[in-house]
Amino acid sequence: AKRIGVLAVQGAFAEHEAMLSSIGAECRELRSAADLEQKPDALVLPGGESTVQRKLLMESGMLAPIKSWIEEGMPVLATCAGLILLAEHLSNDERTCFKTLPVTVRRNAYGRQLGSFITEAEVRHIGMMRQNFIRAPYIEAAGPGVEVLSETDGHITAVRYKKQLALAFHPEVGPDTRLHEAFLRMI
Ligand code: GLN
Repeated sequence: AKRIGVLAVQGAFAEHEAMLSSIGAECRELRSAADLEQKPDALVLPGGESTVQRKLLMESGMLAPIKSWIEEGMPVLATCAGLILLAEHLSNDERTCFKTLPVTVRRNAYGRQLGSFITEAEVRHIGMMRQNFIRAPYIEAAGPGVEVLSETDGHITAVRYKKQLALAFHPEVGPDTRLHEAFLRMI
């Protein structure tokens, strides 16, 4: 089975693990630097609160080694806060983290009224998907080599760059496993 390291310092990691296990992957939770001794085949950066995740990544000593893994080409699936952690630039925050994905991301981009919503939109190579946005960011600008996979209301909500698959919405909620299956095929 493919071994997936799931960042488990905060946020929606359990939902990703449940979905990945249901389609045959083996998950290991990454909570401290000791958990990085065994190198996984791929990574998941779940949704949650990016500022808290970033702080815990720095304090645990996991930030630099995980950044190197991503730079070396380890496949990564990032959702919501995970997308914020990957982004090279944030338009409304200083606190960048891995900076491995050449995009500009706006945090909490939908404001208070539309903070959380569900919509249906096309995801390239997959088809129509029900998409859950939870105090979500969106991608304001994408650099060269970034493939746009989905858009809602004129804003980019999913991209792929090399082996980094990053989404503003949450594919780990609900029964649709197609996105996680596509991720496993990237490994
Ligand atoms: N609002 C969160 C942040 O800025 C992201 C929301 C999420 O991951 N569901 O980190």
